Amino acid sequence: MTERPKCCLCLGNELEKAPEQEPRSRRFHVRCRVCGHFVVSEAGWGHLWDSNRVDASDRLVLSTYTRQYWERRNKPFAISTGHIRAPSKSLGFRFMSVLDKIDAVVRALAEKSTSLGSIVELSWHDWPLFQAHSGDELREIVSHLQAVNLVAVAIGWREVNCGYFARVSLTVKGWEHAAVLRERKKPGQAFVAISFHSSMKDAKRAILQTLSDCHYEPKMSNDPPHNDKICDRIMALIRQSGLVVADVTRQSQGVYYEAGFAQGLGIPVVWTCCDRDRRRLHFDTRQFNHILWSDIADLKVQLKDRIEGTAPRRG
Ligand SMILES: [Zn+2]
Repeated sequence: MTERPKCCLCLGNELEKAPEQEPRSRRFHVRCRVCGHFVVSEAGWGHLWDSNRVDASDRLVLSTYTRQYWERRNKPFAISTGHIRAPSKSLGFRFMSVLDKIDAVVRALAEKSTSLGSIVELSWHDWPLFQAHSGDELREIVSHLQAVNLVAVAIGWREVNCGYFARVSLTVKGWEHAAVLRERKKPGQAFVAISFHSSMKDAKRAILQTLSDCHYEPKMSNDPPHNDKICDRIMALIRQSGLVVADVTRQSQGVYYEAGFAQGLGIPVVWTCCDRDRRRLHFDTRQFNHILWSDIADLKVQLKDRIEGTAPRRG
Protein backbone atom coordinates (compact mmCIF):
# COMPACT_ATOMS: atom_id res chain seq x y z
CA MET A 1 0.00 0.00 0.00
CA THR A 2 1.35 3.44 -0.89
CA GLU A 3 1.73 5.79 2.03
CA ARG A 4 -0.43 8.89 2.05
CA PRO A 5 1.42 12.25 1.92
CA LYS A 6 2.07 14.05 5.19
CA CYS A 7 0.05 16.93 6.58
CA CYS A 8 2.19 20.06 7.02
CA LEU A 9 0.43 20.78 10.32
CA CYS A 10 0.04 17.57 12.35
CA LEU A 11 2.80 15.85 10.34
CA GLY A 12 0.68 12.66 10.20
CA ASN A 13 0.03 10.65 7.06
CA GLU A 14 -3.58 11.68 7.17
CA LEU A 15 -4.25 13.78 4.07
CA GLU A 16 -7.49 13.04 2.26
CA LYS A 17 -5.98 14.36 -0.98
CA ALA A 18 -2.83 16.13 -2.14
CA PRO A 19 -2.64 19.83 -1.14
CA GLU A 20 -3.81 22.27 -3.81
CA GLN A 21 -2.36 25.69 -4.44
CA GLU A 22 -4.54 28.64 -5.50
CA PRO A 23 -3.19 30.12 -8.77
CA ARG A 24 -3.28 33.80 -7.73
CA SER A 25 -2.89 33.96 -3.98
CA ARG A 26 -0.54 30.95 -3.94
CA ARG A 27 -2.25 29.78 -0.74
CA PHE A 28 -2.33 26.05 -0.11
CA HIS A 29 -5.55 24.18 0.63
CA VAL A 30 -4.94 21.21 2.90
CA ARG A 31 -7.53 18.54 3.73
CA CYS A 32 -6.48 16.39 6.66
CA ARG A 33 -8.51 13.81 8.55
CA VAL A 34 -7.11 15.20 11.81
CA CYS A 35 -6.78 18.95 11.17
CA GLY A 36 -9.79 19.34 8.88
CA HIS A 37 -9.72 21.55 5.78
CA PHE A 38 -7.54 24.65 6.23
CA VAL A 39 -5.63 27.08 4.06
CA VAL A 40 -2.16 28.44 4.64
CA SER A 41 -0.18 31.18 2.91
CA GLU A 42 2.86 30.26 0.86
CA ALA A 43 5.15 31.72 3.56
CA GLY A 44 3.22 29.87 6.27
CA TRP A 45 3.49 26.66 4.33
CA GLY A 46 7.29 26.98 4.43
CA HIS A 47 7.26 27.77 8.15
CA LEU A 48 5.10 24.75 9.00
CA TRP A 49 7.59 22.34 7.48
CA ASP A 50 10.36 23.81 9.63
CA SER A 51 10.40 21.87 12.91
CA ASN A 52 12.74 24.46 14.46
CA ARG A 53 10.13 27.14 13.90
CA VAL A 54 7.01 25.23 15.06
CA ASP A 55 7.16 22.92 18.06
CA ALA A 56 4.79 20.07 18.92
CA SER A 57 2.77 22.18 21.35
CA ASP A 58 2.16 24.88 18.74
CA ARG A 59 1.12 22.25 16.19
CA LEU A 60 -1.33 20.86 18.70
CA VAL A 61 -2.95 24.27 19.15
CA LEU A 62 -3.16 24.89 15.40
CA SER A 63 -4.50 21.39 14.58
CA THR A 64 -7.14 21.69 17.29
CA TYR A 65 -8.18 25.15 16.16
CA THR A 66 -8.37 24.36 12.43
CA ARG A 67 -10.31 21.14 12.99
CA GLN A 68 -12.83 22.73 15.35
CA TYR A 69 -13.22 25.71 13.00
CA TRP A 70 -13.89 23.38 10.09
CA GLU A 71 -16.43 21.31 12.04
CA ARG A 72 -18.29 24.34 13.36
CA ARG A 73 -18.38 26.46 10.24
CA ASN A 74 -17.76 24.06 7.38
CA LYS A 75 -15.26 26.48 5.91
CA PRO A 76 -11.47 26.41 6.10
CA PHE A 77 -9.54 28.53 8.60
CA ALA A 78 -6.78 30.62 7.00
CA ILE A 79 -3.50 30.18 8.88
CA SER A 80 -1.21 33.20 8.69
CA THR A 81 2.43 33.46 9.67
CA GLY A 82 1.23 35.41 12.74
CA HIS A 83 -0.80 32.40 13.86
CA ILE A 84 2.23 30.18 13.38
CA ARG A 85 4.52 32.51 15.35
CA ALA A 86 2.25 32.68 18.42
CA PRO A 87 -0.69 30.25 18.07
CA SER A 88 -2.09 30.37 21.61
CA LYS A 89 -1.97 34.14 21.88
CA SER A 90 -3.23 34.96 18.39
CA LEU A 91 -6.09 32.44 18.55
CA GLY A 92 -7.05 33.01 22.21
CA PHE A 93 -6.48 29.32 22.82
CA ARG A 94 -6.79 27.83 26.29
CA PHE A 95 -5.57 24.36 27.11
CA MET A 96 -8.14 22.12 28.76
CA SER A 97 -7.48 19.96 31.79
CA VAL A 98 -7.68 16.19 31.42
CA LEU A 99 -11.00 16.21 33.31
CA ASP A 100 -12.40 18.81 30.93
CA LYS A 101 -11.40 16.65 27.95
CA ILE A 102 -13.19 13.67 29.48
CA ASP A 103 -16.28 15.82 29.96
CA ALA A 104 -16.01 17.09 26.38
CA VAL A 105 -16.31 13.50 25.13
CA VAL A 106 -19.38 12.89 27.32
CA ARG A 107 -20.99 16.12 26.08
CA ALA A 108 -20.33 15.15 22.45
CA LEU A 109 -21.76 11.68 22.94
CA ALA A 110 -24.90 13.11 24.55
CA GLU A 111 -25.34 15.58 21.67
CA LYS A 112 -25.08 12.81 19.09
CA SER A 113 -27.31 10.34 20.94
CA THR A 114 -31.04 10.32 20.39
CA SER A 115 -32.01 7.70 22.96
CA LEU A 116 -30.65 5.29 25.55
CA GLY A 117 -28.56 2.75 23.68
CA SER A 118 -27.85 5.05 20.69
CA ILE A 119 -24.57 3.98 19.16
CA VAL A 120 -22.11 6.77 18.33
CA GLU A 121 -19.06 6.22 16.17
CA LEU A 122 -15.84 7.80 17.41
CA SER A 123 -12.90 8.19 15.06
CA TRP A 124 -9.28 8.08 16.20
CA HIS A 125 -8.84 11.16 13.97
CA ASP A 126 -11.33 13.16 16.03
CA TRP A 127 -8.96 13.84 18.92
CA PRO A 128 -8.69 17.61 18.18
CA LEU A 129 -12.45 17.94 18.74
CA PHE A 130 -11.87 17.15 22.40
CA GLN A 131 -8.51 18.90 22.69
CA ALA A 132 -6.85 15.56 23.28
CA HIS A 133 -3.14 15.37 22.49
CA SER A 134 -3.50 12.44 20.11
CA GLY A 135 -5.73 9.58 19.07
CA ASP A 136 -4.09 7.55 21.82
CA GLU A 137 -5.30 9.98 24.45
CA LEU A 138 -8.84 9.82 23.03
CA ARG A 139 -8.64 6.04 23.27
CA GLU A 140 -7.54 6.34 26.90
CA ILE A 141 -10.46 8.64 27.64
CA VAL A 142 -12.92 6.14 26.17
CA SER A 143 -11.29 3.34 28.23
CA HIS A 144 -11.69 5.44 31.37
CA LEU A 145 -15.35 6.21 30.58
CA GLN A 146 -15.95 2.51 30.10
CA ALA A 147 -14.17 1.66 33.36
CA VAL A 148 -16.34 4.07 35.36
CA ASN A 149 -19.47 2.82 33.60
CA LEU A 150 -20.36 6.07 31.85
CA VAL A 151 -19.94 4.50 28.43
CA ALA A 152 -20.57 1.03 27.00
CA VAL A 153 -18.33 0.00 24.11
CA ALA A 154 -20.32 -1.83 21.42
CA ILE A 155 -17.37 -2.35 19.09
CA GLY A 156 -13.80 -1.65 20.24
CA TRP A 157 -11.22 0.25 18.20
CA ARG A 158 -10.67 -1.34 14.83
CA GLU A 159 -9.35 -0.30 11.45
CA VAL A 160 -11.92 0.55 8.79
CA ASN A 161 -10.88 2.21 5.50
CA CYS A 162 -7.48 3.29 6.82
CA GLY A 163 -8.95 4.83 9.98
CA TYR A 164 -9.57 3.62 13.52
CA PHE A 165 -13.09 3.71 14.86
CA ALA A 166 -14.96 2.63 17.97
CA ARG A 167 -18.71 2.40 18.51
CA VAL A 168 -19.91 3.42 21.93
CA SER A 169 -23.07 4.43 23.75
CA LEU A 170 -23.83 6.37 26.93
CA THR A 171 -25.07 4.31 29.88
CA VAL A 172 -27.79 5.61 32.21
CA LYS A 173 -24.97 6.84 34.46
CA GLY A 174 -23.48 8.55 31.40
CA TRP A 175 -26.77 10.34 30.67
CA GLU A 176 -26.91 11.48 34.32
CA HIS A 177 -23.40 12.91 34.07
CA ALA A 178 -24.28 14.64 30.76
CA ALA A 179 -27.30 16.26 32.47
CA VAL A 180 -25.02 17.67 35.19
CA LEU A 181 -22.59 18.97 32.55
CA ARG A 182 -25.41 20.70 30.66
CA GLU A 183 -25.97 22.96 33.64
CA ARG A 184 -22.29 23.72 34.11
CA LYS A 185 -20.95 27.13 33.12
CA LYS A 186 -18.76 27.59 30.04
CA PRO A 187 -17.33 31.13 30.32
CA GLY A 188 -16.03 31.08 26.74
CA GLN A 189 -19.49 30.39 25.33
CA ALA A 190 -21.74 33.22 24.14
CA PHE A 191 -25.41 32.91 23.30
CA VAL A 192 -26.88 34.97 20.44
CA ALA A 193 -30.53 35.99 20.64
CA ILE A 194 -31.78 37.47 17.35
CA SER A 195 -34.89 37.47 15.17
CA PHE A 196 -35.08 34.60 12.67
CA HIS A 197 -36.51 36.89 9.98
CA SER A 198 -34.69 36.53 6.65
CA SER A 199 -33.73 40.23 6.69
CA MET A 200 -31.54 39.56 9.76
CA LYS A 201 -29.27 36.98 8.14
CA ASP A 202 -26.34 39.36 7.57
CA ALA A 203 -26.57 40.79 11.09
CA LYS A 204 -26.68 37.30 12.55
CA ARG A 205 -23.62 36.28 10.57
CA ALA A 206 -21.79 39.46 11.65
CA ILE A 207 -22.52 38.85 15.35
CA LEU A 208 -21.39 35.21 15.16
CA GLN A 209 -18.20 36.24 13.33
CA THR A 210 -17.41 39.04 15.79
CA LEU A 211 -17.84 36.74 18.78
CA SER A 212 -15.49 34.22 17.18
CA ASP A 213 -12.98 36.99 16.50
CA CYS A 214 -13.17 37.85 20.21
CA HIS A 215 -12.46 34.17 21.00
CA TYR A 216 -15.95 33.30 22.17
CA GLU A 217 -17.71 30.15 21.05
CA PRO A 218 -21.04 31.46 19.75
CA LYS A 219 -24.20 29.41 20.18
CA MET A 220 -27.76 29.98 19.12
CA SER A 221 -30.85 27.89 18.77
CA ASN A 222 -31.08 26.47 15.27
CA ASP A 223 -34.82 26.73 15.05
CA PRO A 224 -37.25 29.54 15.71
CA PRO A 225 -39.05 29.03 19.04
CA HIS A 226 -42.46 27.38 18.61
CA ASN A 227 -45.31 29.67 19.61
CA ASP A 228 -44.84 30.58 23.28
CA LYS A 229 -42.65 27.62 24.04
CA ILE A 230 -38.96 28.32 24.61
CA CYS A 231 -37.30 24.97 24.51
CA ASP A 232 -35.15 23.48 27.24
CA ARG A 233 -32.16 23.48 24.94
CA ILE A 234 -32.17 27.27 24.64
CA MET A 235 -32.49 27.68 28.39
CA ALA A 236 -29.60 25.27 28.94
CA LEU A 237 -27.43 27.10 26.38
CA ILE A 238 -28.10 30.44 28.07
CA ARG A 239 -27.39 29.05 31.55
CA GLN A 240 -24.00 27.77 30.37
CA SER A 241 -22.99 30.99 28.61
CA GLY A 242 -20.63 33.64 29.93
CA LEU A 243 -22.14 36.32 27.68
CA VAL A 244 -25.35 36.94 25.73
CA VAL A 245 -25.70 39.21 22.69
CA ALA A 246 -29.31 40.21 22.14
CA ASP A 247 -30.24 42.02 18.93
CA VAL A 248 -33.73 43.45 19.36
CA THR A 249 -34.17 44.68 15.78
CA ARG A 250 -37.70 43.64 14.62
CA GLN A 251 -38.75 43.36 18.27
CA SER A 252 -38.86 39.59 18.52
CA GLN A 253 -40.51 38.57 21.80
CA GLY A 254 -38.26 35.53 21.95
CA VAL A 255 -35.16 37.75 21.96
CA TYR A 256 -36.50 39.86 24.84
CA TYR A 257 -37.39 36.70 26.76
CA GLU A 258 -33.95 35.13 26.28
CA ALA A 259 -32.13 38.34 27.20
CA GLY A 260 -34.29 38.80 30.30
CA PHE A 261 -33.69 35.21 31.33
CA ALA A 262 -29.93 35.76 31.04
CA GLN A 263 -30.04 39.00 33.03
CA GLY A 264 -32.01 37.24 35.75
CA LEU A 265 -29.17 34.77 36.02
CA GLY A 266 -26.61 37.58 36.25
CA ILE A 267 -25.11 36.88 32.81
CA PRO A 268 -23.87 40.06 31.05
CA VAL A 269 -26.07 40.99 28.08
CA VAL A 270 -24.89 43.17 25.19
CA TRP A 271 -27.97 44.77 23.62
CA THR A 272 -27.85 45.71 19.95
CA CYS A 273 -30.44 47.20 17.59
CA CYS A 274 -30.47 48.59 14.06
CA ASP A 275 -30.63 52.38 14.32
CA ARG A 276 -33.75 52.61 12.15
CA ASP A 277 -35.61 50.53 14.77
CA ARG A 278 -34.57 52.61 17.78
CA ARG A 279 -37.99 54.22 18.26
CA ARG A 280 -39.55 50.79 18.61
CA LEU A 281 -37.33 49.66 21.47
CA HIS A 282 -39.33 48.13 24.26
CA PHE A 283 -40.01 50.60 27.05
CA ASP A 284 -38.52 48.35 29.73
CA THR A 285 -35.16 47.92 28.00
CA ARG A 286 -34.58 51.51 26.80
CA GLN A 287 -32.64 52.15 29.99
CA PHE A 288 -29.98 49.69 28.80
CA ASN A 289 -27.11 50.97 26.71
CA HIS A 290 -27.93 49.56 23.28
CA ILE A 291 -25.43 49.44 20.46
CA LEU A 292 -27.34 51.26 17.69
CA TRP A 293 -25.82 50.12 14.42
CA SER A 294 -26.24 51.72 11.01
CA ASP A 295 -24.98 48.87 8.83
CA ILE A 296 -23.24 45.51 9.11
CA ALA A 297 -19.72 46.98 9.16
CA ASP A 298 -20.76 49.39 11.92
CA LEU A 299 -22.33 46.55 13.91
CA LYS A 300 -19.09 44.56 13.75
CA VAL A 301 -16.91 47.47 14.89
CA GLN A 302 -19.17 48.59 17.74
CA LEU A 303 -19.82 45.07 18.97
CA LYS A 304 -16.13 44.19 19.01
CA ASP A 305 -15.34 47.37 20.97
CA ARG A 306 -18.12 46.66 23.47
CA ILE A 307 -17.14 43.06 24.04
CA GLU A 308 -13.47 43.88 24.44
CA GLY A 309 -14.21 46.86 26.63
CA THR A 310 -16.87 45.52 28.94
CA ALA A 311 -16.94 41.74 28.73
CA PRO A 312 -13.44 40.40 28.02
CA ARG A 313 -13.48 36.66 27.88
CA ARG A 314 -12.64 35.03 31.16
CA GLY A 315 -11.11 31.58 30.98
ZN1 LIG B 1 -3.18 17.27 9.87
